Amino acid sequence: TASQAAEKRGWHLYLVGGAVRDLLLAEATAGTLMITDIDLVVDGFHKSADVGAGVELAKALQEMYPAARLEIHGAFQTAALLWHKDPDLDSLWVDIATARTEFYPYPAANPEVEASSIRQDLYRRDFTINALALRLTPPRAGELLDFFGGLLDLKAKQIRVLHANSFIEDPTRIYRGVRFAVRLGFAIEPRTEEYIRYAINSGVYDRTAQTNTKTPALQTRLKTELKHILEAPYWRSALQLLDDLGALQCIHPTLKLDSELTRQLRLLERCLRRFDPQQNLIHWQMRLEAIIAHLAPTHRGKVAKNLQLQEDSIKHLQNLATAKTEIIGSLLKYQHHSQVVKLLRNYDLEILILIALQSQQKIRRQIWNYLTVLTNIQPILNGNDLKKLGYKPSPQYKQMLDDLLAGTLDGDITNQREAEEFLA
Ligand code: ATP
Repeated sequence: TASQAAEKRGWHLYLVGGAVRDLLLAEATAGTLMITDIDLVVDGFHKSADVGAGVELAKALQEMYPAARLEIHGAFQTAALLWHKDPDLDSLWVDIATARTEFYPYPAANPEVEASSIRQDLYRRDFTINALALRLTPPRAGELLDFFGGLLDLKAKQIRVLHANSFIEDPTRIYRGVRFAVRLGFAIEPRTEEYIRYAINSGVYDRTAQTNTKTPALQTRLKTELKHILEAPYWRSALQLLDDLGALQCIHPTLKLDSELTRQLRLLERCLRRFDPQQNLIHWQMRLEAIIAHLAPTHRGKVAKNLQLQEDSIKHLQNLATAKTEIIGSLLKYQHHSQVVKLLRNYDLEILILIALQSQQKIRRQIWNYLTVLTNIQPILNGNDLKKLGYKPSPQYKQMLDDLLAGTLDGDITNQREAEEFLA
């Protein structure tokens, strides 16, 4: 329907980006394919007013499919249609953009120029395998446009960048390249790796890692890429590859995936398996917090803010050093479970996990014991029991329940009779 609507207006319509890559890969491996994101580009129009072609096409489609929600992003002249039939089903996103022709100097009626504007649009993209387009409108519907050797790279299983300056222009492409390489089981083509190393050695991370940066959009995109990587099943290999390339410097110049951080991340996985699903921990966020927590205390808060992490994460990382000193100092002194509970219940689960990861075994065990055993212990009597025993509801209730809990935790109260005696 979209191609008919485009054709009717005298435009060309192309499927571009990840969907073309994934279609060709699925065809090559005879695998099944689930596409939830479709990127379309409209091109080949004859007058400048058509710069809003993508938006116009999206509006026309929305009229035909009223169930779709329409979003228009004016500044980039792009529109998106979103189908979200059932919350349990995957949704379908269709992004429709107008080929970027604004820098092209020749009259747009020339057929060569029509092809060139889609070429130019594809040339702005990150890797050859992401710069393929499938023509959807006749004549030659179904034709693959491959200006940069993307098909060969798909066959050779390699990630190749389109131009030498690409990573300097946009350092988040380093993270995207690593993500595609690990996800698809591709190699980073040697010249592309050289460009990555060159970009990193020339200090490209200054733009991403430094504070007071004037490029917040870059930071946000870096966070989005980190999220994609850290929530994927292949996150360990991706992190390793980022480290091998020196690309963790984009987060902070001193960040390294050393054996200590590797150990902590392994411990974290055990811990996430244990606490989920009751605690609703956000796994990728916990992994990122653990990575940032590996930096010197003075850098943590700044890095978290630069990446525009959530307020909670920023707070955990800013307070980690102080909390750690306080908790370790106290735990080493404490003799009773009740003291441990009284102290640790003041802290978020996330911060306790971060401290446990960084601590020696004795402290770590105390924190685990608190999180897995002690927090689940309830006082032998509850508020209702107190009422039944004839205690009138009062502000002292809380203190009484706290004392009962302390007695239970420390083993001084083991049954109801001992609890009643304790209160008396
Ligand atoms: P995925 O399957 O992970 O969604 P995708 O290729 O669809 O992969 P998107 O992030 O949805 O990735 O981007 C869509 C397309 O936009 C890419 O295929 C690529 O052509 C282009 N693109 C996205 N980000 C960049 C970037 N930082 N630089 C250049 N091109 C980009």
